[in-house]
This record gives sequence, structure tokens and C-alpha cells, in this order.
Amino acid sequence: MKNCPYCKMNIGGNLEKCPVCQNALEGEGERDYWPKLVVNSRRVKAFQIVMFAVISISIVALAMDFLFLKTDHHSFGPLVMAWTVIPGWQLENVIKKHYNLLKTLFVALIAMSILCGLSEFYIHVAWNTPYLGITPGYIIPILCSANMISNFVLSFVDKQFTDHSLIYMFMNVLVGIVPWIALFFIAGTPPMTWSICMVINTLAVVALFIFRGRIVINEFRKRFHL
Ligand SMILES: [Zn+2]
Repeated sequence: MKNCPYCKMNIGGNLEKCPVCQNALEGEGERDYWPKLVVNSRRVKAFQIVMFAVISISIVALAMDFLFLKTDHHSFGPLVMAWTVIPGWQLENVIKKHYNLLKTLFVALIAMSILCGLSEFYIHVAWNTPYLGITPGYIIPILCSANMISNFVLSFVDKQFTDHSLIYMFMNVLVGIVPWIALFFIAGTPPMTWSICMVINTLAVVALFIFRGRIVINEFRKRFHL
């Protein structure tokens, strides 16, 4: 066992430096207690590059808006910033080694929906153009359908995907079905995009109960403490 001459402590394992005072340890080391922590420098480098790109693009975009403040141009700084920060943040999550793929996909669905919705609204207000409603009408149902299809493809690749991320699949189902029900009662006839999305998500629920019934029930018991 090693010891620190300054802290008067014995330190197990085979550390080089005292974890308390960072001075060199004395004595014979023994087998490591934990595996040595290896920092993946390429991952760290990628993380830093993405972070630098996100911050610098945001600063330049906002600065451009201020430079042209007096002229009548279409302000685009906040748009560029939002479209850099949010996808950049998602990319940082993927660069990190341990991420849950289905969670990442669901978070991406929500983030892209908010991003597209806000951008559309911003262009409508700041540029004084008519509001088209592309995000609620097309982008959200298409993304939601695509997400559910990729969930299913992944569950056939490896059932671990669904079994460990059922909650994200259920949240996707809520995004896919609840708006359709609301539109049905408010507008009478929901748009075709939402109807297709609803059908895909309903089929997913049916398939989930048929193929993974027991796991689904266990998940419900666990989540709602039944
Ligand atoms: Zn020490």
C-alpha cells in the first residue's frame, strides 16, 4: 500500500499522486482498485471543435445583426444562433460515448419541432411574411412518423433498443396520436399528414403489445408503481 508523507494517510491501489494533496505518494503500490481511466483525446478534440464552432458562429451571426441594425435588412442572427446551438448540443451528446440512441432520437424530434416552429414564427413576425404553418402541418407529423419507423427498425436490429427505452417510444406515440385526437374534435378532419402519423403510431402500439407484451406491462408497473 502507498502512503502520503504529507497527509499521513495510506492509499490503496497504485496511484501516482495523493488524491487529497496531489503530492507524490511513497511506498510500494498494489493492484489497481479500478481500471485506469483512459481519456479519449479524439473525442475530447471533436467536442471542443463543435463547441468552438457553435459559439463562434453564434457570435458572428448576432454581430452581423447589430452591424446592419440601421439598415432595413431581415434580421437573421437569432435564427442562425438557434440552428447552431441546438443541433450542436445534439452533436455533443452523440460525441459523448454513452448515450441512449432512442432517447437521442426522441429529444431530436422535440428539439427540431421546437426549432422549426420558432423559426417559422420568427420569419413570419420579423420579416413580415404570411404564416404558413409548415411545422405543425407537415414537419412534426413527418418527423414523428420517421422516428417511430426508425424505432421499429432498431428494435428488429437489437431488442435491447426497445427494452431499455420503452418510455421514449411511448412519448413518441403521445406526440403521434394526441394531436390527431385533438384535431379530430376541434377541426373534424385532421390533415392527411397527421392521419398517416396516427396510423403509424397506432400500429406501433399494437405491434409493441403483440411482440413485447410482457416487457410493456412490466414497464408500466415500474413507472406507475403498480
Ligand atoms: Zn497527501
